[in-house]
Amino acid sequence: MRPEILNRLFANVTTLPGIGSKLNKLLAKLFFGVEGSHDREARVADLLFHLPSGLIDRRHQSKLADLPVEGMVTVEVVIGRHRPPPPHNRRVPYRVDCFDDTGNLSLTFFHVHGDYLKRTLPEGETRFISGRLERYQGQPQMVHPDHMVSREEFGKLPLLEPVYPLTSGLSSKVLGKAIRHALDHIPELPEWQDPAWRKQRGFPGFGESLNILHIPEQPDVLAEDSPARQRLAYDELLANQLALSLMRRHMKKAAGRRVSGSGAIRQCVVDELPFSLTPSQTAALADIYSDMSAPERMVRLLQGDVGSGKTVVALLAILNAVEAGYQAALMVPTDILSRQHAATITRLLHHTDCKVDLLTGRERGREREEILQRIAGGQSNIIIGTHALFQEGVSFGDLALVVVDEQHRFGVQQRLALQAKAGEVTDVLVMTATPIPRTLTLTLYGDMDVSRLTEKPAGRQPVDTRVLPEAKYRQVADGVGRAMEAGSRVYWVCPLVEENEELNLTAVEQRFQQLNERFPGRVGLIHGRMSGQDKDAVMRQFQAGELALLVATTVIEVGVDVPDATVMVIENAEQFGLAQLHQLRGRIGRGEQSSTCILMYKDPLSETARRRLTIMRETEDGFVIAEEDLRLRGSGELLGTRQSGVPEFRLANLIAHADLLQVARDDVDMMLQRDPNLQSPRGKSLVALLHLFERAEAVRYISSG
Ligand code: ADP
Ligand code: MG
Repeated sequence: MRPEILNRLFANVTTLPGIGSKLNKLLAKLFFGVEGSHDREARVADLLFHLPSGLIDRRHQSKLADLPVEGMVTVEVVIGRHRPPPPHNRRVPYRVDCFDDTGNLSLTFFHVHGDYLKRTLPEGETRFISGRLERYQGQPQMVHPDHMVSREEFGKLPLLEPVYPLTSGLSSKVLGKAIRHALDHIPELPEWQDPAWRKQRGFPGFGESLNILHIPEQPDVLAEDSPARQRLAYDELLANQLALSLMRRHMKKAAGRRVSGSGAIRQCVVDELPFSLTPSQTAALADIYSDMSAPERMVRLLQGDVGSGKTVVALLAILNAVEAGYQAALMVPTDILSRQHAATITRLLHHTDCKVDLLTGRERGREREEILQRIAGGQSNIIIGTHALFQEGVSFGDLALVVVDEQHRFGVQQRLALQAKAGEVTDVLVMTATPIPRTLTLTLYGDMDVSRLTEKPAGRQPVDTRVLPEAKYRQVADGVGRAMEAGSRVYWVCPLVEENEELNLTAVEQRFQQLNERFPGRVGLIHGRMSGQDKDAVMRQFQAGELALLVATTVIEVGVDVPDATVMVIENAEQFGLAQLHQLRGRIGRGEQSSTCILMYKDPLSETARRRLTIMRETEDGFVIAEEDLRLRGSGELLGTRQSGVPEFRLANLIAHADLLQVARDDVDMMLQRDPNLQSPRGKSLVALLHLFERAEAVRYISSG
């Protein structure tokens, strides 16, 4: 399937010299985040696509007085006083003062062991320091500089050195070396870009561009608009648009079927609802019913911010299929969520004879067999579950509709795979709470029709968001206590510690104990390592009000619905990405009471983190947050990026390269008109491109086109 010429790029990173299993793990963590590392292996191409986020420029050093406000800098300074933290207080950083004849700079270190700073930075000596400059209380500081060397050592360093986003345990030296090895393994690939276009833009070749960026000879090659950056961005956007176009073409050709129920069960459910539908819920349903009753297959996106009421829309679409005598499935990203949906839906259906089944990784043995039989035999009308729904061994009797909830957790590739597996005639409704800026909808959902829920259900109160330093812990706990006394339900979200699961667990357990001592018997704990049953039990108690405070990791991020919860505390909020904070906060402000969200942060706060927290305080508008998120993301932020749906893109920056996106779209349209089955030499190269960017799922739609 995959052109052989690409094999070298798809080989595991351990095939490169000097990369063993430990480094392999770290790289997977770096590329795919904490969660991804279980099911993905890092490959040579991943190294190549990990572009530098900045550059150490050693060609000339500025005086301290002339430094920019922030950014990568190299300075020549004299080392001054060392200011270690007081004994037994590891939270205070170790600071080292430096100066030149124009100003001062403070170097900041956390968790310093032994005397290595004394040895590396002897007082009175001259040192060349490189790293990311920030301002702390207005003063220039550098946290953990990348290099601190003597004049002699400095002379041996390259004049321009790329700086990469890292993960804890991985040094930039080791990563840089691995990437340079990877560069030696780029095969000679056929050109897939249109020659005239390439020439007009002055784009280098694919491999050449990667070399230019990883071994920079000019500082400006890393700019978003440099030819090498644009070349690679265009490659990625081209692959994306080609995959979506092939998909859309295939969908249009595939014969769907007319699905149109009597409305009887729907009426029953609507009568049960304690509210009436909002105008945009009604409009979205009209779109959906009309798609389902048309002879073509439905592929529709339902976009609506957290709390906008997507679930009930999904349920009514599902019932339309059930009324017509078919099955419908609801796929959600987590176990908790599938159970919650199953409970809500079963409750709303108690006057009907609809049969709801639940299928996740947790149903095992006999029970699982029985469920599978009911699904295959058509006795289950509605099947709710995680991705386990579309694994081997599950076959549906007659599935007419698949609803995918919280799509941003699954990613475009998984959606395409699912659409393929669900069967040719199955309608697909995808729901997402990621409010994507309109320009980007094209890149993520270019193959789908879109409905939007634009207003929140009536009666919602805005969430009062406050930003407080962690030193205010006591006041926060006092406030939480008062809220609990007044009958509020509270989420207490614990920090992500350096992406380390074990440490996360310790942090969350410690916080639980501390709060439980203070509010005995009223505090629950929930995290990803607990067994499913335990999670359910805690969730139920919290829902029922037996527990008033729930200490949690981000397992509660997605979809959890407890309308009585009105307070959320997020610790180390600076560690979370914007999209994630928005999702988390969306868990409160769902009922009619007013809600409060407290974002606690730990100093020193980077400029980007400060911006994020300010945005969270200022707005609840998901679109504004999404735009800002994208803007801030370019800076190599690590956390909260991979999880949020948009970074399907590794080389393209969807803001800086937005113009290339439209070109790619037109390029693809023209190409598919001229060469619908990609048989020409350029067509064949484009197929390789799809593989290269892991859009191989789309390749299957070529010959059938
Ligand atoms: P999301 O879009 O985030 O999935 P949900 O579907 O979970 O949102 O809905 C959030 C809450 O709003 C639920 O408690 C739901 O019952 C309620 N809700 C949904 N639609 C309406 C409506 N039209 N009026 C009032 N409340 C509604
Ligand atoms: Mg939802």
